[in-house]
Amino acid sequence: MTLAWLAALWTGVLGNWPLWQRMWGMPDYAGPSGKVFIVVFAGIVLMVLAAFFSLLAWRFAVKPLLTVMLLLTAPLAYFIGSYGVVIDTTMVTNALQTDVRETRDLMGWGLLAHVVVIALIPLVWIWRQRVADTRWFKRLGWNVASVALALAVGFGLAASRTADLASTLRNNKVLTKMVSPINAIWASAALVVEKQKKPKGPPEVVAADARLAPRPAGSKPPLVLLVVGETARSVNFQLNGYGRPTNPELSKRPVLSYREVASCGTSTAASLPCMFSQLGREAFVDHPGNQETLLDVLQRAGLAVLWVDNQSGCKGLCDRVPNAQAINPARPDHPIPAGLCRADGECLDEVMLHDLEARIAGLDPQRVARGVVLVLHQMGSHGPAYYLRTPEERKPFQPECRSSALQQCPLEQVRNAYDNTIAYTDHVLARAIDWLGTQARQFDPSLVYVSDHGESLGENNLFLHGMPYAIAPKEQKHVPMILWLPDATRQAQHLDGECLAQRRDTPMSHDGLYHTVLSLSGVQTSVYRKDWDWVGACRKG
Ligand SMILES: [Zn+2]
Repeated sequence: MTLAWLAALWTGVLGNWPLWQRMWGMPDYAGPSGKVFIVVFAGIVLMVLAAFFSLLAWRFAVKPLLTVMLLLTAPLAYFIGSYGVVIDTTMVTNALQTDVRETRDLMGWGLLAHVVVIALIPLVWIWRQRVADTRWFKRLGWNVASVALALAVGFGLAASRTADLASTLRNNKVLTKMVSPINAIWASAALVVEKQKKPKGPPEVVAADARLAPRPAGSKPPLVLLVVGETARSVNFQLNGYGRPTNPELSKRPVLSYREVASCGTSTAASLPCMFSQLGREAFVDHPGNQETLLDVLQRAGLAVLWVDNQSGCKGLCDRVPNAQAINPARPDHPIPAGLCRADGECLDEVMLHDLEARIAGLDPQRVARGVVLVLHQMGSHGPAYYLRTPEERKPFQPECRSSALQQCPLEQVRNAYDNTIAYTDHVLARAIDWLGTQARQFDPSLVYVSDHGESLGENNLFLHGMPYAIAPKEQKHVPMILWLPDATRQAQHLDGECLAQRRDTPMSHDGLYHTVLSLSGVQTSVYRKDWDWVGACRKG
């Protein structure tokens, strides 16, 4: 029991340092009364932890269970403290979907120091203690008494400042998602419940009536290149008014850049399924269900579909359509050029443009003759190791932060490293457009680029992304969206170029992606919503 209470004290005070630091600096808790409330709040947190750890105080289980708790708390403290993230179901999903490469980016001395101080040092002490041999019913009695005592003290503390506590739970609820390790355990349990509720089996059919519209005379089959960006934020695009030359190549091409586009979520795991659903954010967030995606519908309509991935996978979206990892060359006799992929298996985004003709040639020729939708899933600006996303010869902004411990770099260098990733995406998109131009004899090409979510770069001491949507800063929800629709495509689509250009500041959102790709690829269905289609308002007739 002593071990449980001491572990609670240690975890509460040291393992939750980011929470105490955050609260100490918040204007809501300024002044002596505010500081007293922080102490009271800390007391409540300690008692909740003590009650929870008391449940673990069984003779043979207490040491291993406290070990798990401390080993869980240490990295949580590091990530919450370093990047300002909070732990909810989305963040746990992100953590579970993270691959080895991404994990490696996050490792560092700061993490090691946290594990040693918060977990290993107390664990050495804990494992040297002797646990008394008490009968189980006596043990149970003690544990119940201990839980009761902790809860009683906790309630007493809460009762002393009910008004402050109520306003904290209402206005700063996010603080409760910083209480480690309860945040991670709670979110994991919620995720399991969510998974249980999710319908199993094949996905529900969407847009069963989807079919290809007859092509206008003189037009060619559509080739839609959809580039799904990663962690690119709208305000860092020169095309959107940013004061640095992050779009030197796209600026020279006839692209349309839309400046007021909202993302569906603040993380890849939350945004991607929503972007490829017909439901739109509002309905999707409440009831994502288990439905077919945009790719299923395109395929059923008879088009050739291919997903090329240079990231941690398509999150199940491309399971039923042809898909390929960018690192695997389309032709064994034509290997990927040197310098595009590192020894650890990570490739620069240009790798996806390698041998695209060969990838198309590998698809069903009957489908290709009707039209092609290619999706390129970028590595983009994935942090925190931004510097790894760009080749050495394409880093116009110097000096750049060359560490994943962003808080240890001057903000200016973090911004340089990040802007280099945007400039590189600019280059990749420009090359993609040039490639599409070479396909114009066979197809009517178009390019759609949109990022999955934005990023915090130190504004309000926040880094990275994944904040709960309701309280996420605009930087995490405001994404770039770029279209390239050459003359022939616009004519075939009856699109008014002037109208498209005028909508540059019209508020739009990820809700439109599904419907835009349907219309650009010539698929008709009753599910299609012209009012959501990004180009719908500019289609004549
Ligand atoms: Zn993402």
